[in-house]
Parts: sequence; structure tokens; C-alpha cells
Amino acid sequence: MEYTVAGAFGPPSLVPGPASLRRKKTSSRFPAGATAAYRLNSASRRIKAVDTNSQDLNVHLEARAEIVADTINPALKDLVWPSPSDETPFWKKEFPIQDVSIELPTDVEKDSNLMHIIHVTAEMAPIAKVGGLGDVVTGLARACLSRGHTVDVMLPFYECIEKQHIADLTLITTYDSFHDGNWIPTNAYRGEVSGIPVIFIEPSNQFFKGKFVYGGSYNELEAYIFFSRACLEWMQVTGVQPDIIHIHEWQTSALPLLYWDMYHHLSLKRPRITLTIHNMEHYGECRQEQLHKCGLDGAIYATTDKAVDDRTIGHNPERLSLLKGGIVYSNAVVTVSPTYLKETLCSGWLSSTLIRNRDKYFGVLNGIDTAIWNPATDIFLPVKYNAQKLEGKKLCKNYVQKGLGLPVESTGIAEGKDVVNGTQQRVPLVVCITRLVAQKGLHLIIQAIKHIEEIGGQMVVLGKAPDDRVEREFKDLADLYNEGPAIRILLMYSEELSHMLYAAADMVLVPSLYEPCGLAQMIGMRYGAVPIVRRTGGLADTVFDIDDHSNSHMANGFVFEGIDEGSLNWALDRAFSLYKSKPDEWTSLVRKAMERDNSWNNTAGNYIEVYNSVRVR
Ligand code: ADP
Repeated sequence: MEYTVAGAFGPPSLVPGPASLRRKKTSSRFPAGATAAYRLNSASRRIKAVDTNSQDLNVHLEARAEIVADTINPALKDLVWPSPSDETPFWKKEFPIQDVSIELPTDVEKDSNLMHIIHVTAEMAPIAKVGGLGDVVTGLARACLSRGHTVDVMLPFYECIEKQHIADLTLITTYDSFHDGNWIPTNAYRGEVSGIPVIFIEPSNQFFKGKFVYGGSYNELEAYIFFSRACLEWMQVTGVQPDIIHIHEWQTSALPLLYWDMYHHLSLKRPRITLTIHNMEHYGECRQEQLHKCGLDGAIYATTDKAVDDRTIGHNPERLSLLKGGIVYSNAVVTVSPTYLKETLCSGWLSSTLIRNRDKYFGVLNGIDTAIWNPATDIFLPVKYNAQKLEGKKLCKNYVQKGLGLPVESTGIAEGKDVVNGTQQRVPLVVCITRLVAQKGLHLIIQAIKHIEEIGGQMVVLGKAPDDRVEREFKDLADLYNEGPAIRILLMYSEELSHMLYAAADMVLVPSLYEPCGLAQMIGMRYGAVPIVRRTGGLADTVFDIDDHSNSHMANGFVFEGIDEGSLNWALDRAFSLYKSKPDEWTSLVRKAMERDNSWNNTAGNYIEVYNSVRVR
């Protein structure tokens, strides 16, 4: 079987935006049998709910969180304090499995006009998470499920995925998908992760093999183009036609090209496509021959109004950008915060493309999944707590300090003495949990390490550097500081430790040079770590300086503007000063940060509006 390649039908609509599409009603050819079976399966989902805006529900949740905090916390005498000399580090011990799918009540208000959304993505938390993309897919999918929609995630079946995290894993379809002149036998499995139905695509070639999500010894660009087509091919062979295919980043940005120029001319008629750009820095540079391998004619897209990478014009050969093609060919394009939307319209080589497509370009602030990130129920925390009962947070701090060999404040807590009034000397603990890449402000992280040591604080950096040079630089710093009394630099990825660090922290530092949205500051707030951030992108939309009196009702952290050391030091100094000299004010700030609603339920409605603006009815 060979499909007709792109170009034969002409461009689908270079601006297939909401208005033009609403006019073109297309009748659905959704095969009734297949759909019914599929929906039946979806109906049995165990997803319950996450927070809502409802006052009553929030009161209910707080009350429930208190009960949980009270009942789950082990008595202090049962708490086994860790030590750096433990054979198994405290973050690697066995933890119970967290079943977030049954955690919260079902009384979330359901949307009218329910729809079927399929996310096609390279990452999904917690099974295939590298950064915020994975969190966003899981959090948004769960929020939409709890509002009554049918949601699936399609993910490459990476060899590194730990299968014990997948419930009810079953082979559902064996089919062929096209790559480089051949039809590749491919398996589709269905399973459930955090209450979300997931379809795993497993080609029989070398794609997605290896120890990590990214960086395997196969051509990543070609693998993701293959995956994009394999997802559409699966929909074609099974007859599943969602209302919305939600793609993410450059990895799945070939999908709208394949959809409009190939599969829409076959049997897929109903779906409309939403692209979320989580970070414009990664744009999927692609040679025309590479795109050709999925059956599209690469040359068709090599124009400035389609997918040519403007920076390579005049070069031989000119390159394509999958992300640019995705922007042009998707029905709606979303980026992850309103401020980042403005920034991307003003600068960067994609700005002209985004301006041309402005009528379908939206800024929707990310949320966090408040069931997964909940200090009152978090299975990784030695002691649970909530905004009303903060004693547990202090114990989490002492637990981490002891486990990492950092001096514990002289409160007697670790010996089981008074917890609340035991503070004699206040040493703030700052955490920075991040990918160690230039975007994250590496020189500012290094400056923070030095300055925090100087001003009498403690700091833990948990970071993984994909670049060897950066890894070496931080390794040298770790060798210099890790034996000392104030700083710990841990060069690894650990979901478990990240939860414990957010809980332990008094402050969370996010000094990014640019930050499309940023989750660390939102997670930090949820765990009572006051954010210290640079004013950029989503950080500017979520953190408001306590000394900005024009906006004091929103104030929840410390913000600095410059990328110089002085600007960072000034923010750290102000935070330390408040922490040390005004403990009551500090505690109020902690509570205020914890009570801010950064949940997906607060923001998923904006995505539903975008979906509704493009779907076919
Ligand atoms: P980005 O997507 O650019 O990496 P975000 O702030 O949007 O940044 O999301 C980062 C997510 O990855 C957060 O959930 C953060 O806790 C997590 N994370 C980053 N680095 C690590 C690490 N070394 N170990 C564990 N979690 C990490």
C-alpha cells in the first residue's frame, strides 16, 4: 500500500484557524462500532478529580487534607532519620505506589459539549518525564478527564519505561506504519498511567530503544516523524477519530502536515489539531530528505509561508523546521504563558510566523497536578503537612538536612522535642531543581551557590546536565562544596528526591534567562517554598514581589530583573532578611504561597475554549 504524497492536494489551508474551520463543517465518518467500544473502555476510567474553584469543594479538600495529614504522619518516634552514610540513600528506598487516580472527590463540575482529545507526545510524567512537558501532558489530561471529556495519550513505547507503573497493559493493535520506503510492523498497547488511558506505539525497528527517553543511538528526528505518522496510521486502521489531536513541541509537529496532506484525504475527517509549544528553542531542524522518509514530499514545504527555516534561506541545502510547519498547519497554537506569548511575538526567528498566525495563537498558563503534587498526601515525604499544619514541613527539612549531612538547626526536633516553638536559629534552605542548561541561568545558579554560603544559608541543587562541559563544571563545584556545611550539588534526575526537596525548602530558586512557563516555582509554592525568580515568561505571570506595593494582594515571592549577580544577590538578601528577622511574616508568606491556586483545574478551561474554537461539530 502506498499513500499519495503531499502536494497532490495542495496546501490544506495555510491558516486553518478557528473561524475558517468553523464554516467548513465536515461530516464525521467515525465508525460507530469502533467508537462505542472505545468509549465504553473510556467510561470505566478511574479518574476522580482534582481541585475546583468551588469554595465548598476547597473547604472540603482542606479538611480532608488535614485528616490525611493527621492520619498518615507517623509518630515522631517511628520516623527513621537518614544519614549520608546509609547504604541506600534516603530517596532510593522503597516507596508505596501512589494511586492518584482514586485520590480526590468526583464532584468536579462537568463541561457541556464533551469531546474526545488525544495527546500525541514525546513525554508523559511520571513514566517518561524529562522536564515540564511530561508534567503538563499528565496534568492537563487528568484535568480534562475530570471535567468529563474522553482523553487518551499516545506515547512512544520507550524501552526505558518501567512497566510496573502501567496498569492493565495490553496489546491492542498490530499494524504497519511507513518509514523510508518500508512498512514497519508496529504494535500498539493500551495501559493506564495515573488514571489516564495511554496508547503506547512500539515499532519493530531500533527507534525508542535505549536507557533514556532522549539520546538513544537512533536518529531522533526520524524516529519522531515516524511516531507522528504511526499515530495517525493507528487512528486510520482502528477508525478512532478524536475531536482534537493535541500535539506538543517539534517532536510531533510533522503530524499536522501528515494529517492535512495525507490522512485527511483518506478516512480521517473529524480531528482538528492543537499544537502546544513549550519552548521555542527546540524547533526540529529537518532536511527535506528526512521528511521525505515519512512519505511527504519535503520540497513542497520549503517555502517561507510553510516550513522553511528562515535562517537557512540562501544556504545549500535549505532546511525545514518541523515546529514552524506545525505552527502553520495546526488549527490552534498555544504557548504556555501569556508573557511568553508576548515575548515570542517580539523576538526570535519564529516571530514573523507567529505574527502571521496571530489569530490562532493563544497563551494559556500551565498548571500543576495538585493530586500528584500535594504535601498532604505525597508518598515520598517522610511527614505530610498542609498550609494549616506546617509542623510536618519543618520535619521534612530536618529529614533532608540529616540525609544530606547538612547541619540541622538547633531545634531539638530530630530528637523529638518541641517542633513548633523550637526555633533558636533560623538557617534558610534554598533548593534549585532544574535541567542544567543555559536557559536556566547557569551562571546565576553558580552565583547563588557562592552567595548563599556567604550569607549563612543552605542550598541544594538537584540537576542533570545533558552537556558534558556543563556536567564537568558542576561536578567540580560539587567536589568543592559537597563536603562543606552549606551546599549540596546532586547531579542526577530523581523524581523522589525532587518531592522531598520541595517539601524541605524554605525557598525555591528559578533564575532562568528565559522561561516559557516554569513549573518549579508553582510546585515550590504548593509545598510552601517561597519562590525567588527572574522576571521572565511564566515566572512573571506567577510570582509577584512582596516589595511591589502596587500589587501587594498578589505578592507571593521575590522577583529580580537583571541577569547580573547583583540583581540575584539583592533578591536573595531580601528573602534571607525577611526569613531571619520576621518569622511570623515569613510564615504568612509561606501560607499565602501554598494557598495560591496553580492547579490545572484553574486553567484547563482555557484549553477547553481553544479546543472548542476549532473542533468540528
Ligand atoms: P523545563 O520543562 O524547562 O525542564 P519546568 O520548570 O517547566 O522546566 O519543569 C521542570 C520539571 O522537571 C519540574 O517538575 C521539576 O521538578 C522537574 N525536574 C527538573 N530537573 C529535575 C531533576 N534533576 N530531578 C527531578 N526532577 C527534575
